[in-house]
Amino acid sequence: MNILVINAGSSSLKYQLIDMKTEGVVAKGLCERIGIAGSVLKHKGKGGEEVVVSAPMPDHGAAIQLVLDALTDKNHGVIKSMKEIGAVGHRVVHSAEDFDKSVLIDDKVLAVCEKNAELAPLHVPANITGIRACKKVMPDTPMVAVFDTAFHSTMPPKAYLYAVPYEAYTDLKVRRYGFHGTSHMFVAREAAAYLKKPIEKLKLVTCHLGNGSSITAVDGGKSVDTSMGFTPLEGVPMGTRSGDIDAAVIEYLMNKTGMTIAETINYLNKKSGVLGVSGVGSDFRDLAAAEKEGNRRAILALDLFAYRVKKYIGAYAAAMNGLDCVVFTAGVGENDAAMRQRIMDGTDFLGVDFDKEANKNFTRGVIFELSKKGSRVKVLIVPTNEELVIARETKNLV
Ligand code: ADP
Repeated sequence: MNILVINAGSSSLKYQLIDMKTEGVVAKGLCERIGIAGSVLKHKGKGGEEVVVSAPMPDHGAAIQLVLDALTDKNHGVIKSMKEIGAVGHRVVHSAEDFDKSVLIDDKVLAVCEKNAELAPLHVPANITGIRACKKVMPDTPMVAVFDTAFHSTMPPKAYLYAVPYEAYTDLKVRRYGFHGTSHMFVAREAAAYLKKPIEKLKLVTCHLGNGSSITAVDGGKSVDTSMGFTPLEGVPMGTRSGDIDAAVIEYLMNKTGMTIAETINYLNKKSGVLGVSGVGSDFRDLAAAEKEGNRRAILALDLFAYRVKKYIGAYAAAMNGLDCVVFTAGVGENDAAMRQRIMDGTDFLGVDFDKEANKNFTRGVIFELSKKGSRVKVLIVPTNEELVIARETKNLV
């Protein structure tokens, strides 16, 4: 069966068509500038070369129609007709407390998603638009929602509650939800399989370090704590997000600068993180280049990022009363050897014997061990694959 995986953003739509027999990617691509002038579809199909289609996409429905056209195109298409798509898996960013696992989408599920949209107003409305658009073009194809927050639904109250009046939780749903759940779940399971140990017996800290970053404590296969919170702003610093900050800074900044509350939150989401500290950029490759030139603020941003990730690893080892393995994944975690070294520097007290040489000479795209033989705590790179998780969850449900 082929499964189409859809990740719809407000003006973009990413997709992959996955053949579940081999779990191989048959085609993938990205629609950009949906609803804006200059919309474009970048599609990689047969042969792997990129096809760029510039065509108006006034809405997500038009975008999905173009995706289906590209998939069934006579020249670069990979399937004969839409009928060869057995199901569609949709990424949905937020499920509040309503879903602790993936679900088949029906009107009831959509209504619940709509109710929860206010918790992630930048993402969930776009996800819903993607689902509705798909349903319109492929009304008979089963669809599944896979939620970023679901894996974290196992956190205990002491981990997910903020120390604010309890009514903020009961009446207003203010709590830690956590994100990147599909990624943390996937790499935790992959790590356990690699270590040939039942996941129920493992204490893992999974570090999803990309443009957005989060750290999760996975005890016995369950998320017991995670660094992102009510929104993805909390936790470690990120490309452009501040991560943890004293909430009182917000009022002070507003008073001093005249920014509105929306501008201040935007400042913390879009202008902060390693971009804000370095003044160089949010991409860690640019920071590494600036570091080579001796740029002090770039070095500071890299040091600060590594320090804060390390603090979470230590905190989660304490929270779980133990640690068997640290897992690195996503753009930075999988590729940035210097950053991994910075983070793991001085973690020997935890029982980590980090192999600097292996880390430098790592192989990309596979599970790779960064700890020395005999290290009590293992360190692994595990490439993440959120689309594959969504496809597997979808297959299981249809
Ligand atoms: P997203 O959160 O957008 O899914 P990714 O997981 O794709 O992000 O990570 C993207 C980030 O990974 C880039 O912004 C960049 O900082 C970092 N990155 C990617 N490749 C490398 C590399 N070779 N070296 C260092 N950093 C890298």
